[in-house]
Parts: sequence; C-alpha cells; structure tokens
Amino acid sequence: MRTRSSKKNSINVVTLGCSKNIYDSEVLMGQLKANGKEVTHEAPEEEEGNIVVINTCGFIDNAKQESIDTILHYADKKQRGEVDQVYVTGCLSERYKPDLESEIPDVDAYFGTRDMPLLLKTLGADYKHELVGERMTTTPKHFAYLKIAEGCDRPCSFCAIPLMRGGHRSTPIEDLVTEAQKLAAKGVKELILIAQDLTYYGLDLYKERRLGALLKALVKVEGIEWIRLHYLFPSGFPQDVLDIIREEPKVCNYIDIPLQHIADPVLKSMRRGTTKAKTDALLAMMREKVPGITIRTTLIAGYPGETEEDHQVVLDWVREQRFDRLGVFAYSHEENTHAFNLEDDVPAEVKQQRVDEIMAIQMDISRELNEQKVGKEYRVLIDRKEGAHFVGRTEFDSPDVDNEVLVPAEDIYLKIGDFCTVKVVEAHDYDLIAEVL
Ligand code: SF4
Repeated sequence: MRTRSSKKNSINVVTLGCSKNIYDSEVLMGQLKANGKEVTHEAPEEEEGNIVVINTCGFIDNAKQESIDTILHYADKKQRGEVDQVYVTGCLSERYKPDLESEIPDVDAYFGTRDMPLLLKTLGADYKHELVGERMTTTPKHFAYLKIAEGCDRPCSFCAIPLMRGGHRSTPIEDLVTEAQKLAAKGVKELILIAQDLTYYGLDLYKERRLGALLKALVKVEGIEWIRLHYLFPSGFPQDVLDIIREEPKVCNYIDIPLQHIADPVLKSMRRGTTKAKTDALLAMMREKVPGITIRTTLIAGYPGETEEDHQVVLDWVREQRFDRLGVFAYSHEENTHAFNLEDDVPAEVKQQRVDEIMAIQMDISRELNEQKVGKEYRVLIDRKEGAHFVGRTEFDSPDVDNEVLVPAEDIYLKIGDFCTVKVVEAHDYDLIAEVL
C-alpha cells in the first residue's frame, strides 16, 4: 500500500517546451490560485507539493523524450510515496494519450491541450471565465509572453503542431489589451507576442489580418515599453506591420520569422507556400522598410529528400543573407505529419553535420555583426545578475534564445528590470560586453 507523502497540500506545475506552454501553465496556475489553491512553478525538491502537474511538449524527438523522462521521474516519486498525485497535460499528452495511459499507468490522469476546465475540476477547482488575462507569470517581472492566438491552419508537411493544438483561434483585441494593461500594472515593460503564426492573427475572428491593428492598440498601453514579435510566417505577410515597426518606437526593430529552408524543391515538399525568390524579396523589403531591423530565423536540416546540392543552396544563402539571429533543428520524422509518408533518407549523422555546417557559418556572421557594434550605444533591459556581471538585452534580443549584453558589476549597481544606456566595449561570438554610460 503506497504511503501518503509528507509534503504539504499544494500543486507544483512543471512546464516543458515552448513559450506557449509557459503561457498555458501560467493561466492554469492563475486559475488554481483564484480557487484558493496553493500552487508553485517548478519548486525546488524540498518545497515541492504533494500534487504535480506536468505540462508536456510533443514537438520533436528530443522534446518528447524530455517529457517522457519527466513523467517517469514523477511516476517513480509517486511509487516511493514522495508525491501523492501526478497529472500530465500539454502536447505530448494530447498526441499520445492512449499510449501513455497504457505505458505509464502510475499517472493519475492525462489531459489534452484544450482540457483545462477538466484538469481544474480534477484538482478541485472551477474554471473562472472572468479571469481573462489573469495569470501567474513565471518570467522575470519586467517581461511576459502574450499569446495572441492558438493553433495553426498552415499545412507544413513536417509539423505536428496542428495535430496537438488544433486550428488557428485568435484572441479578441480587447481581451489582449486588457491582459496587457494588467501585466503593465504588475510591472511588465516588455511584451513578447507569441502564437503558432502571428501573421494569421484575425483571419478567423475578423476575416482579415489584424496584427497591425493589435499592435496599434497595444502601443497605447501605459507602462509597456517594448513589444516584440515572434513566430511570423513568410507567405501572406502583412506589410503594414513593417510600417508600424518602423514608426512605433515601442515595437522592437526585431522580427522572428522561422523560414525552415530555402531550396525550392524542399520548400515545395515542405508545403511552405513560398519560394526562394519570394522569400528573398520579403527579406529585402523588410530591410528596406525597416532600416537596421534584426531578423531571427530558424531552419531545418536533413529534411527527407534534401540533397547535398539543396544543402549547399542553404549554406550560400545563409552566407549571403547574414541573419542577425539563426537557429537550426535536425529534421525529426513525426508520425501523422504529411512528411511522415516520405522516406527519412538523410542519415542522422549527415543531419547533424549539416546543422553544424550552418551554425559554423552563422557563428562567424554573428561575431562580425557584433564587432560592428563596438563603440556604439544601446538601450539595455537588465534581466539578472550573474557572477561578476549584470546581464541584459537590447531590443534586438529576445530572452532565452538570442544574444546578451554583459555589464561588469564591480563599482556599479543596476536594478533588475530597469533600462540603462550602455556603450559596447567588446564583442564575442554571440554576446557583447558593455559599460554603463
Ligand atoms: S506555421 Fe507551419 S511550422 Fe508553424 S506551427 Fe503552423 S504548421 Fe507548424
């Protein structure tokens, strides 16, 4: 007979995966708190409660493995009587519920990505609709994610996200403005707009693209100083957004646009709805309309059928485009995606070699671009103190994924969450060293 844990009666939420999962965990915790529940986020072992909710990721192999390992970790703890209840939600659970139920039966219950009311009920709480925009943020107080839509209607062949998150659903502008006002009232200065595809915003609700209109509403929110755009899509790109980025000082000169590939045969097979020529024209227009814009992109290496020639096209293009920020994933063969019908014919070691080749080029570009910043002044938002440095970001850097500015901490004191103006004195592959002016 399993013994009850000696832990206090509280719920510990553990989040895996992307910023959208972080957002969902924050909403869940906000609901639990409003129901009078004691709730923590990834509490240290000794402070962990007796109930655990794991918000999983089911995107690609590595992420799935991390989620399974986390579930097994807490299932073992339950076996040992160290926790009493374990619940699993999020993308992996949405995608593989029947398998998980049979393979890891120690979990009390599995929930899908749209089952929050049911999960809350199971935890003895009621879903409170009046809490729109209320959540327990887990990010440092001065920045927060704002999820403007959920799901995706795009047909990208390699992507399992629509299987886990459903079709595109935009959140009404007025609800997002209310949420931004509440966040600003709590001290948030930087809003990071997220969705699966920001450019699709409004097409369902307003029958037209309304990302521009949303930005115009959000820049009016007092206290918000930076608005950052993540996850834009290349085809059907709302050009008015570029004018707003140029004209509105609060909207960062920063765009995250995962392009995934550039060789036409691969773009076609990926069902990306664009071509190399169109993509290059879009990038050129971005740089022309918004001088000095920072462009972040993400690529996939080793997609089925990708030839050495296709890969060379990518390498030449990365050298030519000189992206400010770039990440690469090795292709992951995901069940029930369109690409799963293709042969996963690029060997794992070749996938990795191609990832490394792209990142080697990017590291040189990143260093060269950083060297051009030496001697220049930038406004920096201080995120934390780490060892002998205060660590912050310019408007050209998003938390956790981009470059950082390190300010030696001896003889100065900077307040976390404050802006300051710095002068860059040293450049590294990714980070910058600067002194406060
Ligand atoms: S835009 Fe494509 S890659 Fe992005 S979530 Fe949608 S289907 Fe997936």
